[in-house]
Amino acid sequence: GGLIDPGTGWAEIDLDAFAANLDALRAHLRRSRPDDPADLMVVVKADGYGHGMVPMARAARDHGVGWLGVATPGEALALRAAGDTGRVLAWLYGPADDLTPAVGARVDLAAHSPDHLDRLAAAARATGVRARVHLKIDTGLSRNGCRPEDWPGLCRRAEALEQTGALEVEAVWSHLACADEPGHPSVAAQLDRFAEAVGVATAAGLSPRLRHLANSPATLIVPEAHHDLVRVGIAAYGVDPAPGLAARAGVTLTPVMTLRARLAAVKRLQPGDGVSYGHRWVADRPTTVGLVPLGYADGVPRTAGLTGIAVRVDGNPAPIRGVVCMDQFVVEVGPDAAVGDPVVLFGRAARDEPTAETWAEALATIGYELVTRVGPRVPRVPV
Ligand code: PLP
Repeated sequence: GGLIDPGTGWAEIDLDAFAANLDALRAHLRRSRPDDPADLMVVVKADGYGHGMVPMARAARDHGVGWLGVATPGEALALRAAGDTGRVLAWLYGPADDLTPAVGARVDLAAHSPDHLDRLAAAARATGVRARVHLKIDTGLSRNGCRPEDWPGLCRRAEALEQTGALEVEAVWSHLACADEPGHPSVAAQLDRFAEAVGVATAAGLSPRLRHLANSPATLIVPEAHHDLVRVGIAAYGVDPAPGLAARAGVTLTPVMTLRARLAAVKRLQPGDGVSYGHRWVADRPTTVGLVPLGYADGVPRTAGLTGIAVRVDGNPAPIRGVVCMDQFVVEVGPDAAVGDPVVLFGRAARDEPTAETWAEALATIGYELVTRVGPRVPRVPV
């Protein structure tokens, strides 16, 4: 880690916690299917869910992780540029994206249309590297993926291109819509459609080595979705995908990120003093406030102060007062607070700190959004 400017906040990244989460997830995979546990893919897209893509990828590899998952081919190439030589799957690209560099760099790529297959085959011919394809079926998320009615044709096209040596179908895969809602009927429906799609692929002459369907929620609470490989993002970073899922699975997750700062100013307000833009909070008594040097440009939601969220200042709850500004916000502190006092925005419940989940609940969002939005100005400091 470089020098931390004491005027800014920083995101402490606990690599031991990350490793412990990977261990806990692997133990859960083994408990779910002792004879043949699913393999673990760690998803590091979106800058490692805000934790730093390359450091998290390295930490995952150091901990024996065979597969990394990213959204875009550009992210996969950034991993290659950083020296990563292992299996990486990239699943999202647009019509203008040139797939040649990723195929040449032996990145596994998703495909859900004949156009995708043709572009991957062309990239393979251009590079002399056989494209490794993960065929995606839309089993009910209605996002990307091949519609079931188009699936037999897609499988036949893939098989024909396999025969030319341009590509190899490594996997059939899909993504669940409601795995975080225990017992949601769409999960069983998606599992059924997935099994059918695998059957169709096999009937078309494909022999995919892998089937993968599970994200973190499914990994935690839908063991039938584990198949050969699970794609775990948020749980690896120690954030529960939804309230109670990790506990339900008997998995202990430790948050990897703690968002920290130091008070940059302390002052006394008098009754009637309004705080921040729009004076959405007005002191009704003599009040000591502190200034936290992080704002919505750093991923702190602007309306957080209107929800009753409290950060910790020197271990004590300090409610946010008024709207969060671009670079800074105001908190109410005790009379003894001083410039330089340590602030935790979110971290660990086990240390009596608010968590990304706490913030998410107050803001009607999910913990994913809190960690991924921590901005580029915030140094990530591994510990
Ligand atoms: N698989 C796909 C296709 C995804 O888009 C994502 C992330 O949204 C994941 C897996 C990982 O999801 P989670 O963070 O819930 O584990």
